[in-house]
Parts: sequence; C-alpha cells; structure tokens
Amino acid sequence: MQFTIARDLDTLQSAMRGIAGQGKRIAFVPTMGALHEGHLTLIREAGKLAEAVVVSIFVNPTQFGPNEDFGKYPRMLETDIKAAQGAGASVIYAPTTEDMYGSNFSTRISVGPMSTILCGAFRPGHFDGVATVVAKLLLRVLPHFALFGQKDYQQLCVINRLVRDMDIPIEIIGVETIRERDGLAMSSRNAYLTPEERATAPKLYAALQSAARAIESGAPIAATLQKEKDALAAAGFRVEYMELRESYTLAELHSFRKPARLLVAAWLGKTRLIDNIELSS
Ligand code: AMP
Repeated sequence: MQFTIARDLDTLQSAMRGIAGQGKRIAFVPTMGALHEGHLTLIREAGKLAEAVVVSIFVNPTQFGPNEDFGKYPRMLETDIKAAQGAGASVIYAPTTEDMYGSNFSTRISVGPMSTILCGAFRPGHFDGVATVVAKLLLRVLPHFALFGQKDYQQLCVINRLVRDMDIPIEIIGVETIRERDGLAMSSRNAYLTPEERATAPKLYAALQSAARAIESGAPIAATLQKEKDALAAAGFRVEYMELRESYTLAELHSFRKPARLLVAAWLGKTRLIDNIELSS
C-alpha cells in the first residue's frame, strides 16, 4: 500500500478517502511519538485487524499541566516515522498544533468522575485534554478500530466511556502492557531516568505483583497497599497512589472481588511512572 505522511488534515483526509474507496478496513494507533516496543506492538496488532494502519504522532499540549514535561517530552519524528512504517503503518498523521486546534478552539470534553480520580486527581484536566484530542483524532481518521495500551489503564477506561457515551462507532481495543526484561513497563518517559533510577524503577512492577498476590490470597487490602507503598518510599519513590479498583468503572473496592485492577503512580526523581496489573483468582 502507498505510504503517506500527513502533516495536515487535508492530506490525511484525502489519504483516508483513498483507503475507504478501496474498501479497506482501518485500524488507528494514536501516540505522542518517541516510539518504543510498546507502541510498535500496538501497530503490529493493528495490522492484524485491518488492511490499513494509521498512526498519529502528536504531543498534545492540552493534556499537560503547566508544570509538566510538555517542553522536554522527547520528539524524534524522523526516527518514529521509520519505526512506525517498519511495524506496518501505512499512514502517519503528524499534525502541527495549529492544524489540530486552529484558532479559537474552545470545546473541552470531560468524561466525568472517572477523569478526576487516580491520575486525574494529581493531573487536573489531564483526561479532559486526552478525551478531547482523542475524540478529534477518531473523527478525523474515522477508523474501524482504535488501539490503546493497558499501560495507561485509566486512559483506556476514559476512552471506552467516551466512545460509548457519544455513540462513536469505533471499536476500542486494549493491548496488554509491554515490559522491559526486568518488568519495567515501557514508556517514552523512561528515557528521563538516570542509570541509578533506571535500576530502581522495576521495583514499581514488583510492588504491584507482590500486592496483587497478597490480596488474591486474602490479605487485607489497605494494610497490603500501605506495606507496598512504604517499601517503595524506602526504595526512593514518591508514591502518589496505589489503589485497588473495579476494572471497568474504576470504582473503589473495599473488599476483593473480580474484576479488579491494581494501579500505581510514583515519582522517581523527576520522572513520574505509572503501572497497573489485573488481579486474578
Ligand atoms: P503515548 O505515546 O505514551 O501517548 O502512548 C501511545 C499509546 O501507546 C497509548 O495507547 C499507550 O497506552 C500505548 N503504550 C505506551 N506504552 C505502552 C506499553 N509499554 N505497552 C503497551 N502499550 C503502551
């Protein structure tokens, strides 16, 4: 298939019309670039679902808080384009901020209580920014499928809620978290870690696993989470939260029942790491 790099909406939509005209199914992978094996897995999975794979690369300013890392977020468009193409992308959409928002843009989509808990409590407005840009991207690309990583589990829940509430006729697919060999969830932000922090970082996933095993075996939830948070603090993390939630609504769980998800966010130096795990048994 012809490979297209679109930097603006007109180019994207003319490529999409061509693909739709050929009767091809379309799978879409939105990203902020600095692509790693997690992103590339999403792109390969997209290729199993559809004949045409669209990857967007856009560091969305509206999902970053004023003191967050928008300015220093890694940008490497040329490398990303090659990597995405290598994994099977046929269209790359890398819009400018002007193309995405133009002037006088003023709509903000807010997905409700799910957006203000967990990461939303520490990053006010973040999920509104995500929901708004994802809605725009979905409507611009109009794919059959859109793939998101479980790595950003709350984001996946927010987007599922968004497409259901707004009757957006696109199937959302959640793809499991891709990890480094030592368990650290892959993330573009891992590049911020010093070598020393990088050596400590896998303890976050280890803490999730240890808490999950304990809770699955009947240990009390609050005490178990506190113990793991204390251990992370002792290892040098500044934990924002570690919480057990119902897997789809993200409602609080005071006693263990499935489906349940354990989610964590913690700072290591100047890097904010998130991870999560599904509980079984
Ligand atoms: P980002 O570029 O960080 O906004 O991520 C773009 C997409 O890739 C999102 O759907 C993420 O959840 C997903 N993603 C990021 N890291 C991973 C990972 N380690 N495993 C699976 N998916 C991921």
